[in-house]
Amino acid sequence: MTSPLGPVVLCDGTNPTVVFCSAVTKSALGAHNQALPCRENRINMEYMGRKRKSKSGFIGRYFGYVLLPVIVYGWASGNMSAAFILIASSLTLLYMLFAAPSWCMATTRDGNGCRRNSSGLLLGCSLREHKWQKIKMAFRASKWGELFGRFWGNTANSAAAVSAMAATLSALVAAVALATR
Ligand SMILES: [Zn+2]
Repeated sequence: MTSPLGPVVLCDGTNPTVVFCSAVTKSALGAHNQALPCRENRINMEYMGRKRKSKSGFIGRYFGYVLLPVIVYGWASGNMSAAFILIASSLTLLYMLFAAPSWCMATTRDGNGCRRNSSGLLLGCSLREHKWQKIKMAFRASKWGELFGRFWGNTANSAAAVSAMAATLSALVAAVALATR
């Protein structure tokens, strides 16, 4: 979908600029034409702006996965406080539920899981309907099994689900260790 289709001439009001645009941009443009009004250029700017905004650093994007080895080291070495491990585990769990790069997996009209990108296991993609679908499931205990099943559709979601469970277990053990000290 995002492969460049070749240079497209855009009008910016004064002089035409040549950019490489993706299929998305090209379909937004329709038949591109130098003589068309400047609306096209605005669409292209918006598209590029959105793309730039969604790009964050590797550590920022995979922050929760970076914490995992820290937690494992904490338990293995025994020289990290249970309070620190509890905080790190809770952060990891929150990250997996609300920030980890994953697929939306909400049920689409054709009955398959939605493959658009989403942040975290509990949030859906940019489609409002998909967000609501998953949040509603999270609030209904009878739907938890179905929601849980969605976590295993692909590698990204499975990695996040396994990490979320490990983080939960680690947080519980750390909490018990703190309470019984
Ligand atoms: Zn979706």
